[in-house]
Amino acid sequence: MATVALSNVRKVYDNGFVAIEGASFEIDEGELLVFVGPSGCGKSTLLRMIAGLETVTSGTVSIGGRVVNDIPPKQRDIAMVFQSYALYPHMSVYQNMAFSLRLRKISDGEIGERVRKAAAMLGIEELLDKKPRQLSGGQRQRVALGRALVREPAVFLLDEPLSNLDAKLRLQTRAEISTLHRKIGATMIYVTHDQIEAMTLGDRIVVLDRGSIQQIDTPMNLYRHPANQFVAAFIGSPSMNFIPGRIAANGSPLFRSADGALQIPLRGSSGLPSNDRDVVLGIRPEDVNLGENPSAKLNLDLIEPVGNEIFLYGSAGESRLVARVGPQEVPEPGQTVGIGFRTENFHFFDPATGARIEMKPGAR
Ligand code: ATP
Repeated sequence: MATVALSNVRKVYDNGFVAIEGASFEIDEGELLVFVGPSGCGKSTLLRMIAGLETVTSGTVSIGGRVVNDIPPKQRDIAMVFQSYALYPHMSVYQNMAFSLRLRKISDGEIGERVRKAAAMLGIEELLDKKPRQLSGGQRQRVALGRALVREPAVFLLDEPLSNLDAKLRLQTRAEISTLHRKIGATMIYVTHDQIEAMTLGDRIVVLDRGSIQQIDTPMNLYRHPANQFVAAFIGSPSMNFIPGRIAANGSPLFRSADGALQIPLRGSSGLPSNDRDVVLGIRPEDVNLGENPSAKLNLDLIEPVGNEIFLYGSAGESRLVARVGPQEVPEPGQTVGIGFRTENFHFFDPATGARIEMKPGAR
């Protein structure tokens, strides 16, 4: 296993498009790091530069302490798993898994041992004699994982490996990858556009937007302390509520939405600015509650009962809000309900830059 380090990596494609700007971070030995972000944010480009499938325009990529910018993919001691399984159709599962080891002139005995060990880890021992066309999508993806496993690389690179699977299989295979990672303690980089996949798999997550890293942190830190409005909106479902307005800091601190329809006393909130200022208030849906000390009214227009919880969508003046509440008797769309807020969990962002507004604890 090995560390991976990027220092000020930039990627400009031939047409002048800047796909990655100033990427710097280190991946610890045995860590599972996830790259997440919307389509086109540059996550595959970043992964492909680590793999050696794309050139690095400037900056350095190191694997195991060695700068690999000019080292071809084959000599980087990495194994990649892609969304498309790309198995050889005429070869059995065993032959597919053994193929790269044969090329490396590893002895038949050791190949057999490694293939069987990987197959056992993935629960595909009974499939070893089958051809890819005889397998389901989930089984094929497991073979693709197995093909990477047998190589015992320093680093595994996985690019949206689950996106061809149906929802149930995706959950199951996600859990298997997580267990596998713990079992073999491998350094892994995992690319996905799915924030739930990122949150459930990653030791740490790199959130990307338009080629720039927005935040690198553990899943819960991203959720609790998003560095900016982009991260706050991207992580969490339903998404965080954002309400532009102003904090009146004198006397009892109060948030007033831009249209004045929401006036929320802020006692107990952390991260308050010490002067009056314009902000964007961020409220997670679970920090809106029904009826306990209501300080606002929500006109409901959509109710989504998902079973263990209910999402209530509506507006308070011009502000759109979604609340996540437990299973209970729910009001009807068209009704107005009193809502309260867990103000100690409020987030505040700079309206101009989107950056989180942080105050030192105890400053007010
Ligand atoms: P997705 O989730 O859709 O795969 P991504 O985050 O992996 O997206 P990349 O494939 O890394 O995104 O692409 C990042 C940006 O670089 C995109 O805007 C894409 O159009 C652009 N891009 C990718 N390859 C090239 C290329 N060869 N030449 C020019 N631009 C490219």
